[in-house]
Amino acid sequence: MQPHIGIVGAGIGGLTAALALLRAGQRVTVFEQAPVLAEVGAGLSLSPTAAHALNHLGLHDMLQAKAHHPEDQCVRHWRDGRPLNWVNRGQKLIERYGERYYLVHRADLHDALAAAVRACDPQAVRLGRRCTGVSQDARGVDLAFVDGGTARVDLLVGADGSRSPVRNQVFGPLGVTYTGYIAWRGLVPMHLVPEDILDPPSGLFIGPGHLVNRYPVRSGELLNFVAFAEREAWTEEGWAIRSSRAELLAEFEGWTPMVRRIMELVPEDQLFKWGLFDREPLAAWSKGRVTLLGDAAHPILPFLGHGAVLAIEDAVVLARAIGASSSIDEAFARYENARRERATFVVLESRKAGKAFHDPDSDSYAQRVKGKAADEGIGLFSYNPVTQPV
Ligand SMILES: Cc1cc2nc3c(=O)[nH]c(=O)nc-3n(C[C@H](O)[C@H](O)[C@H](O)COP(=O)(O)OP(=O)(O)OC[C@H]3O[C@@H](n4cnc5c(N)ncnc54)[C@H](O)[C@@H]3O)c2cc1C
Repeated sequence: MQPHIGIVGAGIGGLTAALALLRAGQRVTVFEQAPVLAEVGAGLSLSPTAAHALNHLGLHDMLQAKAHHPEDQCVRHWRDGRPLNWVNRGQKLIERYGERYYLVHRADLHDALAAAVRACDPQAVRLGRRCTGVSQDARGVDLAFVDGGTARVDLLVGADGSRSPVRNQVFGPLGVTYTGYIAWRGLVPMHLVPEDILDPPSGLFIGPGHLVNRYPVRSGELLNFVAFAEREAWTEEGWAIRSSRAELLAEFEGWTPMVRRIMELVPEDQLFKWGLFDREPLAAWSKGRVTLLGDAAHPILPFLGHGAVLAIEDAVVLARAIGASSSIDEAFARYENARRERATFVVLESRKAGKAFHDPDSDSYAQRVKGKAADEGIGLFSYNPVTQPV
C-alpha cells in the first residue's frame, strides 16, 4: 500500500509518525497550524517504551547527548523533605526492560524529530496550515484550512492534540470535565540552584492536595519543575497562561526549602499555569480513511508523565501497521488492535495515580508505596512498540 498520508499536527506525536512513515518509504505531508516549528519550554520524562521507539527511529544519539539519565528518583515529604521512597529509573529498568528513563527538554526532542523528518523529505512539513475542515469520500480525504486553502490525501492521521479539531469533525465533540487540579511549569537555570537541594536531581514531593516533580533537562543546564494543586474552579486550558512567583509561593506555603527555593528562583517569563481537563476514552479511533493518534485519540492526565510516551508508541505502531497492510481498513484495524487496550490502560492508571499522589496523609502514602514506584508492577513498561505484534 503506497497512499499519500496526511498528518494534521506537528507535535511530538505527529512528527514521530511522519518520521516512522517516511523511514518506511511512505509519502507523507504534515499540516501544522503554527507558523514556525517550536515546542513549549518544559521537560518530558520518557519511559523505556518510548526509548525503544526513539532508538528504532535513529534518535539514540540525541537521548544520549541531551537527556538527563536519572539513576534514582526520590519521593520526599512536602514539609520536611524526608525521603518517603526511592525509585530506580536506570540500571534496574535496563536489566528488566532493556531501556531506562530519560528526562528531556520538549524542544530538544521536537527539534531532533523535525530535523530527522526534514532530512527524509525537506517538503514534508507545511507550516501555517490550520485545519478547519475534514471530509471524506470513497477515494480520499479533503482538508480545508483557515486561509481558504485545501488539500486532498488518501489517508489522514489526526495528531492535533487533546482538543483535536480532526477528532471533533469526524467523531463529534467529546465531553470535557475539569479535574479539580491546576498545574504550573517552570524552568530554572541550573547554575542558580544550590546543589544541596538536588539530592538526587530527579525528585518528587508530595503533600496534601499538592505534588511537585522536578528534574534536570538540556544536558543539565536547566531544572524543570511541574507543580500540581487542587482548585475548585478553573476555566482555562492550555499551556501558556502566565503566573507569578508570588502566586506559586502562596500556594506552596510551608513547603520544604527543597521546593520553595526552586520556586523563588524561577524567572517569571518561564513560569506558566493551566487547568487540567479530562476526557473519556473513545470507543474507536478510526472512521473510514481517518484515524487518530496521541492526545487526539486518548487525552490523558499528566500524573504518570505518559502522554508523549503513548503518542510516540502510537506513531511507531501505526507506521508498522500501514506497512504490513494491503488496505486502509486492514491497517487501521491492525493499529487499533495493537494500541487501544494499551493506551486505555495507561489513561486509566494516570487518573488513579493522580488520586494516589494527592493522598492528604503522606505517611500512609509512604507505607503503601514503600520500595515501589506508582508505575511499577502494573505493567507500564512491559510493552515494546517496535516488537508488539501488529
Ligand atoms: C504538566 C504536563 C506534564 C507532562 N509531562 C509529560 C511527561 O513527562 N512525559 C510524557 O510522556 N508526557 C507528558 N505530558 C503529556 C504530553 O505533553 C502530551 O501527551 C503530548 O505532547 C501529546 O502529543 P501530541 O503530538 O499528541 O499532541 P500535541 O503535543 O498537543 O501536538 C498537537 C499539534 O497539533 C497542532 N494543531 C492543533 N490543532 C491544529 C489544527 N487545527 N491544524 C493544524 N495543526 C493543529 C498543534 O499546534 C500541535 O503542534 C505532560 C503533559 C502535561 C500537561
